[in-house]
Amino acid sequence: MRSWGRRIAAALAIVGAVGCGPAAAAGPQVLFLSSFHKDLPAQREFERGLETVLGRGSANGILFEFLDSPRVPAGDAAEGMAALIERKYRSVPLSAVIAWGRPAAEFAATARGRLGRPPTLFVEIADDVAAAVVDRSAGDLVYAGQANYGQSLVEALRLSGPERLVVIGDGTVPTAAVRQAGFKDAVAALGIGLPVEYLVERPLEEVLDRVAQLPPKTMIFYLLSFSDGRGTPMTPYEVAQRISARANAPMFSAWASLMGSGVVGGHVLSIEAAGEDVGAALRALAAGQPVSAPRSAMRLVYDWPQLRRWGWDEASLPPGSAIVNRPPSAWEIYRWEMSLVAASMAALGSLAGFLARAVRSRDAALAALAVERASLAERVTVRTDELARSNAELQQFVYAVSHDLRQPLTAISAYITLIQRALGPTADAEVGHHLAFVGAGAKRMNAMIGGLLDYSRVGHSGRSTQAVDLGVVVAEALDNLQPTIAECGALVTVADGLPTVAGDDLELMRLFQNLIGNAIKYVAPGLRPEVAVDWVAEGEAVRITVADNGIGIAADQRERVFGVFQRLVTQDEYAGTGLGLALCRKIAEHHGGRIRIEDNPGGGSVFAVELPRGAG
Ligand code: ADP
Repeated sequence: MRSWGRRIAAALAIVGAVGCGPAAAAGPQVLFLSSFHKDLPAQREFERGLETVLGRGSANGILFEFLDSPRVPAGDAAEGMAALIERKYRSVPLSAVIAWGRPAAEFAATARGRLGRPPTLFVEIADDVAAAVVDRSAGDLVYAGQANYGQSLVEALRLSGPERLVVIGDGTVPTAAVRQAGFKDAVAALGIGLPVEYLVERPLEEVLDRVAQLPPKTMIFYLLSFSDGRGTPMTPYEVAQRISARANAPMFSAWASLMGSGVVGGHVLSIEAAGEDVGAALRALAAGQPVSAPRSAMRLVYDWPQLRRWGWDEASLPPGSAIVNRPPSAWEIYRWEMSLVAASMAALGSLAGFLARAVRSRDAALAALAVERASLAERVTVRTDELARSNAELQQFVYAVSHDLRQPLTAISAYITLIQRALGPTADAEVGHHLAFVGAGAKRMNAMIGGLLDYSRVGHSGRSTQAVDLGVVVAEALDNLQPTIAECGALVTVADGLPTVAGDDLELMRLFQNLIGNAIKYVAPGLRPEVAVDWVAEGEAVRITVADNGIGIAADQRERVFGVFQRLVTQDEYAGTGLGLALCRKIAEHHGGRIRIEDNPGGGSVFAVELPRGAG
């Protein structure tokens, strides 16, 4: 046994090397002799079992030969094939042989001497075959003897509860008779007492017709068919599929490899389980460990589509049952899609959360803003009221002061007149001069106070706004200025069609009278004043200009002159109060317009007044 282990170890050491025929492989190897064809589902099952234990690709270290006995005619052909295999492996140092099925087992036993007498692991052979081929002294072992029909039958009867049995199989291959005999023994041993009909050695068409019209509560048991009744070779899977497709009763069997071919399943022989056991034995031996006794390879396996077809649910199966061919769940099929959807939903959820938070904080901000706006509006209203009140108070104050100042001034003027009259023409010339000076001062102060009163009254006349023809306004201003114009011989030209604006005609008249009056006044001595009043429409506004040929105003003084009491000349040069332009600006602004001084390329000044057209 120990030398056998060393040989297996050497064989497994080369597992993974690409199988390229016995001549190319170095050292002892394992020969797998299959009675069947390499494409048979059961073959793949066996290999899967081996791989489960030895790892994937382990088959590369094992040399496969397929006798394909159900299809290769017995006699010369089979013997020729055996001879071929013998010759092929005669000089190959085999560490072990796996023989699956009766033909392979019988060949392995016959050729043992010529293959170097390797120990053999037999799989799925009946007891009588084992008795003939197993050599315990050579280390032979038997894995998965023939299927246990008794166990299979018990479970099938339990699940389907039939009143009659139909058994289907063939009779042409050597093992068929063995299977039928074994099955009959099992029926007898169980003493089931049901009518049993054997549909064997019949043409497939006949079998198919029969299974389509079985009486109710019939159960079919399938004992494998490697040919139909006429001897035409077939695979047991193909036959099973065709029977199941036509049958009106559930079909059971004893081999797990038929799962997916139309059998319900049950307690069945699993070649995959046998493969696992053989793999474990090879491994234990390679490690120099004792090989445990081969276990039964019978397993509880069910086919999901067939359970559904005959209406049996999983709860009716024995514990530990395996269900195969179950369609993948929606989760398994759409796992990636569902994960993606879940991830997207999670992302959308966070986004929604984020948006909800954003909306909440925006709402909070808007609410705060609304509160702020309300309080701002309230404050603006309060401030506006305060401003209006203080403005009104200021107007009142200016008016009161101006008015009250006039009384002592009037008294001063009156007393000066009395004093001058009392002194008479004999008065001292110097005293007379001083008195005249005081009188002029009082007069000037009176004019200034009058100007202040006018200034404070702008916008408070109490007159309502009306359409004002500026042509009429300017004509009135010129009328008022007529004595002055005549005195200095001024030339005043006024453009035709001066526009109409909305406003207070008296205030506008005062505005233009001031401007034209200044234009006539502020000319160099000896020069004849020339004044031009012109206008132009500018969108919704009108622009009226008053240009003169006077002394002009320096660019950096053009804002200053609009201030109260601001003058650029002395009283001696040009008399005045310094209130005229301040009044003009206040009137222009009160009408929603503005006033400013522009360059006059020809010398002198240009005063431009912009007013909204307003009504009219
Ligand atoms: P007043 O004419 O009574 O002095 P104004 O407010 O009308 O007061 O004018 C302020 C100052 O602006 C004047 O003192 C003068 O220096 C200057 N000014 C006004 N109009 C003209 C003008 N057309 N040409 C030159 N200087 C002017």
